[in-house]
Amino acid sequence: MEPRYGNRIGDREVFEGEEVLLKSPADGRDIATVVYADAERTNEAVERAREAAAVWKSSTLAVRQALLLRLAERVQSRADTYATLESLNTGKTLRQSNLMDIPLGIENLRYFATTKEFSLEREIEHPEYPGTRGIVQYAPMGVVAAIAPWNVPFLMAVWKLAPALLAGNSVVLKPSHHTPLTALELGRDASEVGFPPGVVNVVTGRGSVVGDALLHNPHVNMVSFTGSTRTGKAILSTAVGLKRFTLELGGKSPNIVFADADLETAAKGVLFGIYLNSGQLCESGSRLVVESSIRESFVGRLMELLGRMRPGNPMDMETDISAITTAEQQRKIATMVDQGVSAGAKVLFRADLANRTPPGGRFYPPTLLADVRPDMEVAREEIFGPVLSVMEFGSESEAVEVANRTDYGLAAGVWSADLEKAQRVASQIDAGTVWINSYHMLSAAAPRGGFKNSGIGRELGLEGLLECTQTRHVFVNPTHADIDDVAYGLILP
Ligand code: NAD
Repeated sequence: MEPRYGNRIGDREVFEGEEVLLKSPADGRDIATVVYADAERTNEAVERAREAAAVWKSSTLAVRQALLLRLAERVQSRADTYATLESLNTGKTLRQSNLMDIPLGIENLRYFATTKEFSLEREIEHPEYPGTRGIVQYAPMGVVAAIAPWNVPFLMAVWKLAPALLAGNSVVLKPSHHTPLTALELGRDASEVGFPPGVVNVVTGRGSVVGDALLHNPHVNMVSFTGSTRTGKAILSTAVGLKRFTLELGGKSPNIVFADADLETAAKGVLFGIYLNSGQLCESGSRLVVESSIRESFVGRLMELLGRMRPGNPMDMETDISAITTAEQQRKIATMVDQGVSAGAKVLFRADLANRTPPGGRFYPPTLLADVRPDMEVAREEIFGPVLSVMEFGSESEAVEVANRTDYGLAAGVWSADLEKAQRVASQIDAGTVWINSYHMLSAAAPRGGFKNSGIGRELGLEGLLECTQTRHVFVNPTHADIDDVAYGLILP
């Protein structure tokens, strides 16, 4: 019998709704039943969150951090369960869940549980009014609706919950209906470690139902959305009432490799940048922008290394290639690549997965494309799959120009032994994150987000925390001052 998950609403796990059996994209096996909520249940969760917010907003930072730390410890003690569920539900390799997604999420929880960077207020001076002082307070927004995509469900749940809770908000988290399991587990664990009822609610279901109800609910004060650029743009105009929005959207990120880089490390980094999670990461480095003088040898080395990636069952710790999480995504990748090839792109490499993956699983072979012209859809649009397009440049300024030749601006990589040059280039890339001689290194201390069509606002870091707050300025005039006489004299003779 598969485990059953209801939705966490207030102090209850609610099992009313459409019961759905989830199957693993890794091998097609039944993994769990979940309940897709309707609009009524979603609104009930908002109501519970609203009641809880009224009390939670007065809690001290110490109380919030103590609970977050207990949550981190609780998840740590069950890390194997989380990793297994995450891989079964998404199809990502168990090695990735075990060694990256789950431990990183726990580390990120610990960061918010211990950071001293955020305080509830700061003092300012008013140079115009000597003798007075100001207090800038960071008050919570109230109820935060957090809407998440299917690709990194556990990390996403942590990134949505921890900063919002630390800032004093209550949250209704809506994980993707494809991959809600670890978020639902986290909701259970939040309750287990003592978060007051209603502070953490987790409600899964379709975007058109649960997401839509959240957007239409006037008591939702902030929407923290991560997903596709198309949905992100659409929901901005759907929302009822004035809501704060942060949008973490898609990408088409370049990895720039200069001839003077440590090319062996760069080759591994470029492959890691695109083939981790089978390219289903918003910041995946899907465009290789390589210096012309080393193009042949570098691409040759990439193909050698690619040939070594081991297909298999993602639940096997020896497997390197993750499954494709949804059938729709698998079709989208295949269609985009086929169209690119029809338009003249050349397949330099495509892994042979035939009979090397579980029969019930969904996969797409790691692929390398060349002769991709800028006008092609594969060059412009996010594929969100294991497909790397090769582009080249002759000069530093051309590298920047090619890298910025996209409507997206989420992330980029720059590979060079000349750190001065690498930093000069990084500062000219229109993207929210630029890694130098590295890729996918995520830190909870570092704000993440996008330029251009990749988003609005930031998640994580101090900037991400501040997004979950509204500022209140308190002007304090301790005693009667000369300045009062001047001011009041403006209207009183
Ligand atoms: P999606 O936009 O289809 O869905 C994202 C979330 O929005 C889901 O929970 C979905 O149910 C919900 N949703 C869909 N329609 C809605 C509506 N009308 N109203 C309210 N909610 C709605 O994205 P996806 O396919 O789940 O995820 C893949 C996308 O997410 C990619 O574009 C990827 O780049 C992006 N992504 C971005 C980041 C980032 O940090 N920038 C991280 C991960 C994924």
